[in-house]
Formats: sequence, C-alpha cells, structure tokens
Amino acid sequence: MRKPLIICDFDGTITTNDNIISIMKQFAPNEWIALKDGVLSKEISIQEGVGGMFALLESSLREEMTAFVLEQAEIRAGFKEFVAFLDECGIPFYVVSGGMDFFVYPLLEGIVERERIYCNKADFTGESIAIDWPHLCDDKCENECGCCKPSIIRRLKGEDDFLVMIGDSVTDVEAAKRSDLRMARDYLLKECEALHLNHIAFQDFHDVKRALEETREVKEWLLENSAGRSLPK
Ligand code: MG
Ligand code: ZN
Repeated sequence: MRKPLIICDFDGTITTNDNIISIMKQFAPNEWIALKDGVLSKEISIQEGVGGMFALLESSLREEMTAFVLEQAEIRAGFKEFVAFLDECGIPFYVVSGGMDFFVYPLLEGIVERERIYCNKADFTGESIAIDWPHLCDDKCENECGCCKPSIIRRLKGEDDFLVMIGDSVTDVEAAKRSDLRMARDYLLKECEALHLNHIAFQDFHDVKRALEETREVKEWLLENSAGRSLPK
C-alpha cells in the first residue's frame, strides 16, 4: 500500500500568474529581462537569475511592491476546496515554491499553514533586496535551484510514498522527474509529453481533485484509511 504525498508549486500553479514576473514588469529596470531569459534558456541558474532580478529593486519598495502583488494575484479556482479535501482524507500536502515569503505566506493565509510551505525569503535590510535561500540544493543537486525542489522531495518522501506533483514551469521539471504522477499545465505539460512522463493536464484544482480521486493508488489508500472519516463521494 503506497501512501499519497502531494507537493504543489505556487507561482503559475496555485496563482494564475507568476508573481515574480509581475513584480519585475511593474518595478524593475529592463535588465531583469536578460536575467529571466538566461534562466529560461538555462544559461544561468535559477538562484543567480532570481537573486539578480531582486537585486535590481530597492528595499524601500517593500510596501508598495507587497501591496501590488497581493492586489493583482489570483488564486486558481478550486484550490481551497482541494486543500480541504486532502486534509479531510489525511493526505499530506506541501507547497514548494521558488517564490518569496512576503507574497506566498499572505496569499495562502487561512488555506495552508506556514509549516507546510517551503519558499524563499526576501531580505529588505540592505539598500537593494537580497534573497535568503533557506532551502538550498543538497549534495545530490548541482542545479543551484535557489529553493531546491528535488532536495525537499528527498527529505519529505518516504520510500513507499506515491508522490504526486503539481506544477507549470521549467522550475518543476526536476521535481516532475522524481514523482510518480504529475499534474501539469503550460510549459511543464509540454515537457511531460516530450519526456514521456506519466501526467494529467489540468486547468484548475477541481480538475486536480477529480484526477486524484480517479488515481488507483489514491483510491486504494483512501479505501484502506477511511475508517472514522467520511469518505468523499
Ligand atoms: Mg510555477
Ligand atoms: Zn537543486
């Protein structure tokens, strides 16, 4: 019997857009574009690219920037219900995000506790914004991920766990390769097709919930572990 474990990306997955990109478009000088392109083409690491982008912004922007990102961000349909469903079933769920604490935490407030969120931390104490990286790559990863999803998976995943990852972009590919099932959209969807990784396309979290409920390993686990719980129909 395999126990399901769900890990979920934040930007572009839980939210409908990428919050770092939105911030840069609004506040950064044009140099950010070369850094973004460098990350997408894998010429520079995510850590170097994202760190470099935030270094272009003055710390004094903090309040304006935070207000802006919280105002424009939108949580994808069905997310709250999806998390409630997992909690009801006792299926562990973690958010693993290359985003920053100052927008990830408030946007997930009341839905996912901070203990279940892995993300980066912005430091506003210097003249320009610096990034603390609390979840750096372990000795098995050399990608300079910034927030290293493969390393976090190695820590969270038990040997027999059935790992389902949910994501959308280039920063999810390494995690996808280490998962048993992928819920994918956008870039990650094309990548799963190209790499022949077992996956399900989704538009929103109603789709994700439905797909999980129809997954054999999840169904088996729910049947075995539904004692005392109201099994979802
Ligand atoms: Mg993403
Ligand atoms: Zn890494």
